[in-house]
Amino acid sequence: MAKIAIIGAGIIGVNSALELAKAGHVVTLFDGKAPGTAASYGNAGIIATNAAVPMNNPSLLPQIPNLLLGKAPYFHYQLRYCAQNSVPFAKFLGHCTKTSTEIRTAQLRSLIYDSVALYEQYKTDYSVDHLFRNTGWLKLYARRPDNDSELEALKAQQIPYHAIDDLAQFEPALQRHDLHGVLLEDSHSVSQPIALTTALFEAFLAQGGLFEQHAIEQLTQSTGHWTVNEHTFEHVVVCTGAYSKALLKAIGLKLPMIFERGGHRTFEYIEGEPKLARPIYDPDGGYVLTPMHDGYRITCGVSLSDIEAPYSYHQLDYAETLARKLVKMGNKARDDWWGARPTLPDSMPAIGQTKLPGLWLNTGHQHMGLTAAPGSARRLCALFDNAQLENPFSPSRFGL
Ligand SMILES: Cc1cc2nc3c(=O)[nH]c(=O)nc-3n(C[C@H](O)[C@H](O)[C@H](O)COP(=O)(O)OP(=O)(O)OC[C@H]3O[C@@H](n4cnc5c(N)ncnc54)[C@H](O)[C@@H]3O)c2cc1C
Repeated sequence: MAKIAIIGAGIIGVNSALELAKAGHVVTLFDGKAPGTAASYGNAGIIATNAAVPMNNPSLLPQIPNLLLGKAPYFHYQLRYCAQNSVPFAKFLGHCTKTSTEIRTAQLRSLIYDSVALYEQYKTDYSVDHLFRNTGWLKLYARRPDNDSELEALKAQQIPYHAIDDLAQFEPALQRHDLHGVLLEDSHSVSQPIALTTALFEAFLAQGGLFEQHAIEQLTQSTGHWTVNEHTFEHVVVCTGAYSKALLKAIGLKLPMIFERGGHRTFEYIEGEPKLARPIYDPDGGYVLTPMHDGYRITCGVSLSDIEAPYSYHQLDYAETLARKLVKMGNKARDDWWGARPTLPDSMPAIGQTKLPGLWLNTGHQHMGLTAAPGSARRLCALFDNAQLENPFSPSRFGL
């Protein structure tokens, strides 16, 4: 059994640590902060089977002129950041072909459905049943989405969805009934993402795993081992989400990661008003509205900007205006939050060993980190057992 360090205790690192500890390895998890408090804290809480269809699919290309001209208020980009990262962005767009989309969808599909099955098991194994809702998630459209390309792709991949004819009856909290609903029925949602990460973290500790609250600035390689915070390990797994790029750069590995930043805003529930039974997505407004344990959470669209740049909350202002027409919500409950979705050019995570022996990655989960975490951790474990396993997520596809 190996001695392993996991860097980063988000939903990906915690799942990885738990799986490897369960497999009998001696695992130490490092994070500068409390587990689950970065992107894994602030997401929309959706275990989204439709995330198998990557964002960079053929339907993205016709939208680009409007996105670049600033005609889509839910999308923001910082020109200087995009210019500095023109190569990964060009590669990202290069994947918008039908063939690439079909191949990646099939690969992501297996990761995501493994995760859905594992979450089902977690409910009893780790007593987290109360955090899950198996009510699907609802997409709303202003016009009938007859030729929607994402829905076509879902059909081709047999990811189930169906049209909702009577929105008023189906989701009584909705104020607008002129919209068209499509229910993604085998997607699930979580009412408090941090509580899920915390429960899995506690399961990891109960399994004998160790945690050190320490930010790792440098990974040092010596013959046959790695040094992390003065301890030696046979293997290190980098699970630092959007912070992976900087950590890997320090040891000379160039991860082509781009940041899709996004924020959330929370609103109190109004007593006596019906509550949404599931998250809803407004594709025209580009935001998600999720009923969380402590209020409605709006998560906004994408800002392509440097992780160090000041974050502008105007996308959330726009989303709030639209969401208030959809559902009755109370006052803003607390300060706004922002985080970064860690995106690789093919919209797939990097899972597996790098060219530096003993250095592994499980990162780059973009919009699907919550969705794909257990399946990614299981895949990582399988690769530890069998290095020859076929692996479409290998870091080697980026020369790493
Ligand atoms: C607005 C928004 C909405 C989203 N909605 C969804 C959704 O509905 N469903 C879904 O599946 N996904 C969603 N996502 C994406 C999802 O949140 C991410 O893919 C996921 O959280 C990534 O998890 P992670 O563990 O890789 O990263 P993180 O959660 O960011 O964790 C990384 C951890 O590494 C630690 N770290 C960083 N550097 C170091 C270091 N040097 N040393 C030690 N520790 C370090 C950090 O402190 C942090 O705890 C959303 C993301 C955003 C921003």
